[in-house]
Amino acid sequence: MKINIQNLENGLIEIDEEIEPVFINKEIKQYYPNKIALHALVDKFGKDYRINVNINTTALYICDMCLTQFNYSFQAAQQMIFQVGSGKLEATEDIIQLPGNATEIDITPVLSEMVLLNHPLKMICKKDCKGICPNCGANLNTEECRCSKESTDPKWDQLRKLIK
Ligand SMILES: [Zn+2]
Ligand SMILES: [Zn+2]
Repeated sequence: MKINIQNLENGLIEIDEEIEPVFINKEIKQYYPNKIALHALVDKFGKDYRINVNINTTALYICDMCLTQFNYSFQAAQQMIFQVGSGKLEATEDIIQLPGNATEIDITPVLSEMVLLNHPLKMICKKDCKGICPNCGANLNTEECRCSKESTDPKWDQLRKLIK
């Protein structure tokens, strides 16, 4: 995703685009198969470009507890400042320096970082996910555990016999 800055006037421009998720890190690529909606505001002031980026997409996660695939509305936002050539801003971590003859700003590395930083450590399909039974593998959200019946029923039968 590159922003052409060659003929950009001072002031605010708005960018709305749908981009392919090709920039996403290999390790987490499988979770982001859908197009990514990008909304950016580019504020140009002389040689400085302040860019506010919002991205959102429908991610496809796998629940850590019940192993079911589920859709997740993924969103991330970030502000970045680029400076073309040596300007009045001091180069710090927050300001990305570009050569004086730059004609475009490539925000792709920032986009892949945004996804990586906002990628969840834990994927849970819903707050009260019951997970799967470690014994029989039943998804306890949608089905009853088979092994609990098998193991309790005979005991109850024995108890009933005792009571009689
Ligand atoms: Zn789950
Ligand atoms: Zn079970």
